Amino acid sequence: MINLEIPKKFKPLATQANQVATEVFRPISRKYDEAEHSYPQELDMLASLMEGMEEGADLGGAGAAGVRRDADGDAAEGNRNGSNLSTVLGIVELCWGDVGLLLSMPRQGLGNSAIASVADEEQLQRYGGKWAAMAITEPEAGSDSAAIRTTAKLDGDEYVLNGEKIFVTSGDRADLIVVWASLDPSKGRAAIKSFIVERDNPGLKLDRLEHKLGIRASDTANFTLQDCRVPKEALLGNPEIDTKKGFGGAMQTFDNTRPLVAAMAVGVGRAALDRTRELLAEAGVEIDYSTPALNQTAAVSRFLEMEADWEAARLLTMQAAWMADNRKPNSLQASMAKAKAGRTCVDVTLGCVELCGAAGYGEDELLEKWSRDAKILDIFEGTQQIQLLIVARQLLGKSSAELR
Ligand SMILES: Cc1cc2nc3c(=O)[nH]c(=O)nc-3n(C[C@H](O)[C@H](O)[C@H](O)COP(=O)(O)OP(=O)(O)OC[C@H]3O[C@@H](n4cnc5c(N)ncnc54)[C@H](O)[C@@H]3O)c2cc1C
Repeated sequence: MINLEIPKKFKPLATQANQVATEVFRPISRKYDEAEHSYPQELDMLASLMEGMEEGADLGGAGAAGVRRDADGDAAEGNRNGSNLSTVLGIVELCWGDVGLLLSMPRQGLGNSAIASVADEEQLQRYGGKWAAMAITEPEAGSDSAAIRTTAKLDGDEYVLNGEKIFVTSGDRADLIVVWASLDPSKGRAAIKSFIVERDNPGLKLDRLEHKLGIRASDTANFTLQDCRVPKEALLGNPEIDTKKGFGGAMQTFDNTRPLVAAMAVGVGRAALDRTRELLAEAGVEIDYSTPALNQTAAVSRFLEMEADWEAARLLTMQAAWMADNRKPNSLQASMAKAKAGRTCVDVTLGCVELCGAAGYGEDELLEKWSRDAKILDIFEGTQQIQLLIVARQLLGKSSAELR
């Protein structure tokens, strides 16, 4: 098996994250899987502690790093292992503990990534330190995010937002919601911008919380925006509608967040593999890494196959994050990593349930829970099918109109 060492400077971060996963997340993992919609109070203290740790080590947060590129898009010189890679490494460890709890960590929302990626200095100052969720999806716009119907109309010094948003992760708990809305639906995708809406804005109404298959520790909210007024300065990025540039600005956020979701999948997959390896050993099944897989028992052969798949997902994820740190365009690699890691996580966790038989299916073990948690990682931030479509478009040089 290929085993790339992680950069020396990130080893303390990975060790600390693993301690948090082992000592904080794992002990309460089942509790909040069962107590859906109750807030994991244990995370408040942990979030402050981790922020302190990260500042001291000058490392990115578990979900708040951003992809910021030079205005001319040039790559930075040299080889950097920066906050995107450290964030990925931290997420892998924390999700080895519990992905639903990671998604519930205060101030580490996907909206924080959007802010970190495209906010100007003033916005970074104003919204820094707050917890931000991300609201793109609508009843009529999921995979096709360009089809959103929420509008933002300028009225004096304010934008007025109207529309409906569904499936907003941390929507009930976050301080801010980053809302995608169109400045002018007649101008297509170029007119879609993101706006920061304070959670207590009277124009933002919580409709309901979802009940889910997995990640039940994480809240998923549906909202209505009705004449929701935000200051002009709440628009993230450039307010101009540049039809030549199209959707690029908004989509840039995904280059950052997709490797993070891939990292979640890598973490959950490794949790299942690690526990399965232990259970197989307890059952007397020895894994021999020096003998070809097909010359070993069917159980070992299957296990090794899953481990190899997982390793490929991990390497793609690290590559996508490393490219972001080095300011290289990484849309293709971000989608490849997300597609591979999402699918692998589902296959591996279900494969582990299968290999461990009754132990895999029962609630005494977390294997059954991980197989439920896995599926969302292949859905949000773009489904498996959508990632493959993006990869195909990039490899074949086709536009979204040509290949859909
Ligand atoms: C628990 C949870 C948390 C979420 N959190 C957030 C969040 O924080 N913020 C947010 O904005 N959204 C969030 N989402 C929404 C998520 O991103 C969408 O569910 C996802 O993008 C898919 O959209 P959809 O559900 O409308 O499915 P659809 O777009 O209707 O797709 C249905 C199926 O058709 C396939 N499909 C669609 N188009 C194509 C195509 N062109 N070619 C091939 N196959 C295609 C899809 O892959 C999928 O399998 C969350 C969803 C869930 C379940």
